[in-house]
Amino acid sequence: PTILAIESSCDETSAAVIRNGKILNNIIATQSVHQRYGGVVPELASRAHQKHIVPVVDQALKEAGIDKHQLDAVAFTQGPGLLGALLVGSSFAKAMAWGLGVPLIAVNHMQAHILAHFIEDPKPVFPFLCLTVSGGHTQIVLVESPMHMQVIGETQDDAVGEAFDKAAKMLELPYPGGPFIDKLAQKGNPEAFRFPLSEMPGLNYSFSGIKTAILYFLRDQTKTDPTFVENNINDICASIQHTLIHMLLQKLKKAAKQTGIKQIAIAGGVAANSGLRQALENQRTELGWEVYIPKFEYCTDNAAMIAMTAHFKYLEKDFSSMDVAPMPRMKF
Ligand code: ATP
Ligand code: MG
Ligand code: FE
Repeated sequence: PTILAIESSCDETSAAVIRNGKILNNIIATQSVHQRYGGVVPELASRAHQKHIVPVVDQALKEAGIDKHQLDAVAFTQGPGLLGALLVGSSFAKAMAWGLGVPLIAVNHMQAHILAHFIEDPKPVFPFLCLTVSGGHTQIVLVESPMHMQVIGETQDDAVGEAFDKAAKMLELPYPGGPFIDKLAQKGNPEAFRFPLSEMPGLNYSFSGIKTAILYFLRDQTKTDPTFVENNINDICASIQHTLIHMLLQKLKKAAKQTGIKQIAIAGGVAANSGLRQALENQRTELGWEVYIPKFEYCTDNAAMIAMTAHFKYLEKDFSSMDVAPMPRMKF
């Protein structure tokens, strides 16, 4: 089957075409309007999606060399995400599927982040554990098949991407700050500073405590030395990143031990982090893990992962009716 997929859950308008399980392209328009506000402004996101969706879809079809009448289905992100943003993608997909007389496929964005692993080789072997780390989520997911997955641990408050971004904001780095912390951390000493860790029971996470710890740490240090941040920026970033990765790995190792699973994948925007990638690679030799890390463009929000998920759903004839509604807090 040939499927067009649309992603509009947050601040990326994206369209991709998949044919017989192979991604033909992945067009992404990133919204820059949010930068000056230091976070995604929902109303501005909706308007930008409206502006971008037609050219992005046109470009995806054109570059793939596919005429819209060749499509067998149209897929879209149903949730989780911002309601106004999801509405733009879902309305567009419905209208297009209706107009072409083809099935409509509703896709869960978090399931798609995980199934991004099936776009290219090497593909994880079932069952595997996926650490999904993004701007809105931090989850350990037990994946039994493309359609069967369950969350076995997750954050009780902030997502780890949010912790990266909020720390970056305190350091007056641009938004989103995760990639900047990553870059500066590569030149710093991860052991330079220590932050107190609070531990959640079981396989769950909490990232709100570390955020406050960083805030107090910076406040106390700059009180005695106003140039503290600029003189130590690399070490500060390296230490923050080291702490966050340590927290992520601790629970992931626990989950691997509990389930006896050594097939380990990461997904979501924070999976682009070089320190996390390295820490995971190290477990190949240390714990005998088989580690799967997606290509960078399939880590952050993209329609290719929505298309991949839609392909699996098409094979199961898992279609949606025209009255399907966006679900901002959609679960698996
Ligand atoms: P969700 O998927 O939970 O709805 P989202 O779609 O906003 O949230 P993604 O686009 O998957 O999240 O990821 C964005 C997050 O990834 C941001 O918090 C960003 O700072 C973070 N991020 C991207 N690159 C890096 C990096 N190299 N190091 C750390 N964080 C990063
Ligand atoms: Mg995003
Ligand atoms: Fe995402």
